[in-house]
Amino acid sequence: MGDPRGFIKHGRRDKIMQPVTARLQHFEEHYDYPSEEKVKTQAARCMDCGVPFCMTGCPLGNLIPEWNDLVYRGQWKQALKALHATNNFPEFTGRVCPAPCETSCVLGINEPAVTIKLHEVSIVDKGFEEGWIKAEPPARRSGKKVAIIGSGPAGLACAQQLNRAGHQVCVYEKSDRAGGLLMYGIPHYKLQKDRVQRRIDQLQAEGIEFRYSCAVGTDLPFDELKTSCDAVVIATGAEQPRDLPLAGRELDGIHFAMEFLPQQNRVNCGDSDPAALHPKHKTISAKGKRVIVIGGGDTGSDCIGTALRQGASSVVNFELLSQPPENRAANNPWPQWSRILRISSSVEEMRVMGGDVHYELTTTGFIGRNRKVTGLETARVRWENGRPHPIEGTEKIWKAELVLLALGFLGPQTELLEQCGCATDQRSTIVTDAKTRMTSVPGVFAAGDCRRGQSLVVWAISEGREVARCVDEYLTGNPSLLPEVRLEAFNY
Ligand SMILES: Cc1cc2nc3c(=O)[nH]c(=O)nc-3n(C[C@H](O)[C@H](O)[C@H](O)COP(=O)(O)OP(=O)(O)OC[C@H]3O[C@@H](n4cnc5c(N)ncnc54)[C@H](O)[C@@H]3O)c2cc1C
Ligand code: SF4
Repeated sequence: MGDPRGFIKHGRRDKIMQPVTARLQHFEEHYDYPSEEKVKTQAARCMDCGVPFCMTGCPLGNLIPEWNDLVYRGQWKQALKALHATNNFPEFTGRVCPAPCETSCVLGINEPAVTIKLHEVSIVDKGFEEGWIKAEPPARRSGKKVAIIGSGPAGLACAQQLNRAGHQVCVYEKSDRAGGLLMYGIPHYKLQKDRVQRRIDQLQAEGIEFRYSCAVGTDLPFDELKTSCDAVVIATGAEQPRDLPLAGRELDGIHFAMEFLPQQNRVNCGDSDPAALHPKHKTISAKGKRVIVIGGGDTGSDCIGTALRQGASSVVNFELLSQPPENRAANNPWPQWSRILRISSSVEEMRVMGGDVHYELTTTGFIGRNRKVTGLETARVRWENGRPHPIEGTEKIWKAELVLLALGFLGPQTELLEQCGCATDQRSTIVTDAKTRMTSVPGVFAAGDCRRGQSLVVWAISEGREVARCVDEYLTGNPSLLPEVRLEAFNY
């Protein structure tokens, strides 16, 4: 603990968001980061608590008080080492993680929490600036081959860990770039894609092979892959979108969020054909349109921010659930993740531009003309016994030329799982043994959203690291030297 009175002397100062009107003019990341000196001052606020609850809030068990102290002392290289000890990709989590660590911070009980996420991103950005982050190929090869299906954060973390343990790793990706939702889901203004590509380049330089445009189960039969290697890890995400099968759903102009968002990311990557991944090769743009985003979660929020940057004439957002409380409810005490109202940067932008989030609203039908959507009908709902009931007399018609469905995801795509034959649960996510992470098919493992359901980048990295340790034990028959992710902390 660098400064025992730091938390008394200094208030919380986080990175600063550019003003709405400025940030809507571009797709680049929209934060201004404080100077190194100011970050050190913020690190002085860490109290180095006897029980570091912040670490139990982080699904990676990041060594937060340790690197806070190193930042305070200006020992950035050591801080980077401590950060990488538990997190393969802190430049991703340092930008897009909702920071459950901060809601578990002890200082956060009665003062604004320590700016943990700011320290994380400052350490790793300095590491890249200084050239400290380099490829680390293994000294020896084990002779074992592992295939990883899917190159999202779970697949990438697993690949890096297994490669560092000496195994030969090949990542199969159905898309034309690696990164999963880091590359083609999360918008560029939250996470610039050159940052994702930089890590892929590092992994390649470490000896990991990537095969693109190869959908296992379609382009490459699962059995063929399985017989060619010693273990397989499925890390295919939870890509099946929840639909809204109402009258008029077939109208042109109604799209899933994940048909819309990747197109803008492709443009930001410099591609000339944004619709290349769309099943019907259809370009979707919000420019000049009235846009309605159905679904109030993170994906909906990303649709709002992207539509506004594309020049939508208006954007509104519908959410079936009630507005969350502004403060913790009695049944949601510290240090749990706080289920409170959070205003995302995109919702803030939408409000400045005249739109809003409409809570407790259900869509009852789509309206169109000449096969194109022109609007939709809604009704207000009352929540009773955990179910929404439409309120008579609250029906309303909204005009729209673009409707984006961001209603969550139902689990992984099924073709591959059918070929693999691994067991799934009622949520159609892959079932694995709690300790070995092996599926019901021997030698086949699973990690990330395909196993836990739609989740977070930090959880995907955590799962990728843990499954790598399990695969290493399976391949060598010995306890793995790869570090264990300490998940028992989540039992409270
Ligand atoms: C729009 C959006 C925004 C989000 N924003 C955030 C955020 O801000 N912060 C946060 O923490 N989380 C966010 N998330 C959640 C987060 O991105 C996911 O939890 C995380 O990416 C899951 O990682 P994963 O590796 O399990 O799967 P994914 O990232 O989904 O990657 C799976 C990969 O597998 C590939 N694949 C699938 N099937 C096959 C196959 N048969 N053969 C070969 N390859 C295949 C896919 O193409 C994909 O590249 C967001 C999610 C979405 C949809
Ligand atoms: S990964 Fe997320 S939870 Fe963990 S320290 Fe970073 S911001 Fe906090």
